[in-house]
Amino acid sequence: MQDHTELRVIRQRPSGSSRPFLGCSPPHASPPNAPARSLYIHIPFCSHTCHYCDFYSIVDTRDRQDAFTERLVRELRAIAPNASGMPLESIFIGGGTPSLLRLNLWTDLLAAISDSFDLSLIRSDAGEFTVECNPDTASPDLLALLRSGGVNRVSMGAQSFHVAHLKTLERWHDPEAVPRAIEAARGAGIPRQSLDLIYAIPGQSLADLDHDLDAALSLNTEHISAYTLTYEPGTAMTARLSRGEFTRADEDLEADMFEHAASRLGGAGLDRYEVSNFARPGAECRHNMAYWRQRQWLAAGPSASGHFAGHRWKNVPRLDDYIDADDAGFAAIIDHEPPDARRALGERLMTGIRLAEGIDLDAALAIADGLDPTIRPRIRRIVESYTQSGHLSRIAPRIAPTPRGFLLVDRIAREFLDAIDSQ
Ligand code: SF4
Repeated sequence: MQDHTELRVIRQRPSGSSRPFLGCSPPHASPPNAPARSLYIHIPFCSHTCHYCDFYSIVDTRDRQDAFTERLVRELRAIAPNASGMPLESIFIGGGTPSLLRLNLWTDLLAAISDSFDLSLIRSDAGEFTVECNPDTASPDLLALLRSGGVNRVSMGAQSFHVAHLKTLERWHDPEAVPRAIEAARGAGIPRQSLDLIYAIPGQSLADLDHDLDAALSLNTEHISAYTLTYEPGTAMTARLSRGEFTRADEDLEADMFEHAASRLGGAGLDRYEVSNFARPGAECRHNMAYWRQRQWLAAGPSASGHFAGHRWKNVPRLDDYIDADDAGFAAIIDHEPPDARRALGERLMTGIRLAEGIDLDAALAIADGLDPTIRPRIRRIVESYTQSGHLSRIAPRIAPTPRGFLLVDRIAREFLDAIDSQ
């Protein structure tokens, strides 16, 4: 699924610059100077809705897959000129459950991507093409087809290997399906695999998490994402919590799990390179790194969000609206934000501070000076305070979270945003 840190950045900013964009020509109609090198595609179908999920998905009745794919192909052709024929560095197809799309439609989609974009970097495995898969629906036929279309990485949603905890999350897959799916991906020649885990599930103990980490590590993937369970507004999980159906994990236990996951994964050679992401050196998710480094990417599909030429936008989420609204191939857009230097600085600090590589503080402060000279001392005070407390390290010109500082990056990011917004 698309990393929603970006979207949350948009939602947390003052809304004055937002305006409804539905039915207008989208921002990517005007080619900018630099081409986009990344592409996100959202496939919204799921077999049911997991209780913690706030990504846009609909329960798949299989009757709209054809119309969706035809619409998506038109959108891809419309946005492709913004890559200016340059080879894409990364593609990420998320959802939803992309592996639910029928094989013949995958054939059409992969052909459209290949016809519309230069995949030379991806086909030589110097670029990255990831597809999210559900362990139950990642069939050998699908994986072989994906590989033939240039896919060189799969992201498998394991979440837990413990049946009771999967049930709490309302995840329906069989944990036994995960190793089978990883083996099938390897058998299809897909060179990179990633697993997603969730922890701090109600009722989960540290020993249960350890069991999940053992099971995940035994599959020897080069990338594992480990996310804390979050209770997003409007999800079934949040409603169940408010009805008292369970108690959320204690904060101390959650912090212990956060550190334990890093310790176990790091001990196995998968280093934390982002708050929730661990990889062998060189196996970091290149597409998500493009998000966190504030690069440009194009977006296609319902609810997909893009960043290009300083604009941020999100496609209309509802599938029927997405299928029906077609402006010369472009999708209808909501949440459009035009270029804004203050917002861009906040986003750079907010996502950069989540990375082990950190951010170039001198460059960020130089941007801040151009906006408002009072921002610099406010940001410096925050950096000094967290450096003294041992949560940030400074190797000029960069600042980065220390191992225990990762636990506080959301708080540090909020303070940065307040420092930028204070007048
Ligand atoms: S499979 Fe993924 S996208 Fe679909 S409902 Fe579950 S968590 Fe959400």
